Amino acid sequence: MKFYSTNNNANIVAFDTAVRQGLAYDKGLFMPESIPDLDQEFLANIGNYSLPEVAIEILRPYVQGHISEATLETLCSDAFNFELPLVEVETNVYSLELYHGPTLAFKDFGARFMARVLGELNAGGDQQNTILVATSGDTGSAVASGFYKVPNTRVVILYPKGKVSTLQEKQMTTLGENISALAIEGNFDDCQRLVKQAFLDKDLAEKYGLTSANSINLARLLPQMLYYFYAVGKLQAAGKPIIFSVPSGNYGNLTAGLIASKMGLPIDHFLAAANANKIIPEYLKTGKFEPKPSIKTISNAMDVGDPSNFARMNSLFDGELSKFRRKITGYSFNDAETRDGIAFLKEQYNYIADPHGAIGYLALKEYMASHNVTGVFLETAHPIKFREEVEPVIQEQLILPDILKPVMDKPVIATTCGTSYEEFAAVLKGML
Ligand SMILES: *Cc1c(COP(=O)(O)O)cnc(C)c1O
Repeated sequence: MKFYSTNNNANIVAFDTAVRQGLAYDKGLFMPESIPDLDQEFLANIGNYSLPEVAIEILRPYVQGHISEATLETLCSDAFNFELPLVEVETNVYSLELYHGPTLAFKDFGARFMARVLGELNAGGDQQNTILVATSGDTGSAVASGFYKVPNTRVVILYPKGKVSTLQEKQMTTLGENISALAIEGNFDDCQRLVKQAFLDKDLAEKYGLTSANSINLARLLPQMLYYFYAVGKLQAAGKPIIFSVPSGNYGNLTAGLIASKMGLPIDHFLAAANANKIIPEYLKTGKFEPKPSIKTISNAMDVGDPSNFARMNSLFDGELSKFRRKITGYSFNDAETRDGIAFLKEQYNYIADPHGAIGYLALKEYMASHNVTGVFLETAHPIKFREEVEPVIQEQLILPDILKPVMDKPVIATTCGTSYEEFAAVLKGML
């Protein structure tokens, strides 16, 4: 299997190169050259496979030639070793809880797989990689946890000092070993600028094997197909069309669902559930893709004004609006509606959703008012990660999950650094 860049069909690379580069040199996103059809026997019996077994079946065609069958097996059982509950919230409406991984957000699926893939690609050789990540919170914690103790791999996380939650800071800074953190005395944009400049600094980039673990990386995208397969496996016996409502920001999650569907998974329709950053719902309405500066909301992991995976979706739909519309319906909800959604779920069904999941639920309810389907909304984060928003709405204190307790007791270890590139480069060299 080869992968092409969405900016140039002739820019074709193998799996290992696509993973190491992350973004193609022409700034396009990598896509599989052809999307393989899965075996009918497997598709009819997904419900009988465990989570790691499903992962092996669906990821095999993409990694073939680079990762052996035995390694793929180890890698999948190691990466996907947590629960994936499908909770029936009301009749025919399910919450697929993607937040039972170690950092309590769905980004664990992608980060844990990518970390192990990169470790494997580097194993035995003298290739060393240094992952540089700029984060406003969730991505940094998932990458830190995913790459913890992966051989031949260092991770340096840049976060804006004083601008992430205590929980997020603890998750990024208390691991030690191959994970280091830089608290940048600026905002998220400063962190991102320093990382981008480091990649362009050839001496530095080559000497330390700098790589990005950005969410556009193919090795983070592909494993996100896993939970769509798993949920369909649990629901398809009921015989109704199955639809997924996907709380979306950069649209990696929804794109993975589209690829799963193209591999033969029977998904009838997708809902693009957005907050006030409604670039894709607007595109579906007007046919115009118009990126805008992002707007701050209470579902902040979806505050994206220029969703990069539009390029991938456009490529899957041959750039045709009618094909987009056949497969996706867009919805957008503001913060007040999101809070009402959280309150409604709690009052009616005693279910506690986070702000992202609540938007998924609201979109689903609107669609299901006129469609007789089985609906699944993706619950992308544990409500505790957004306790400042959730607790006042449900008027109840959330309980800290056991998995977080040891982290909260450890001291923050981070190096403080200014926002000039010279200072950052010197600090980085000192660490590596
Ligand atoms: C990243 C994230 C999203 C958005 O996912 P995309 O793949 O960028 O659309 C939604 N919810 C949570 C909690 C996230 O961390």
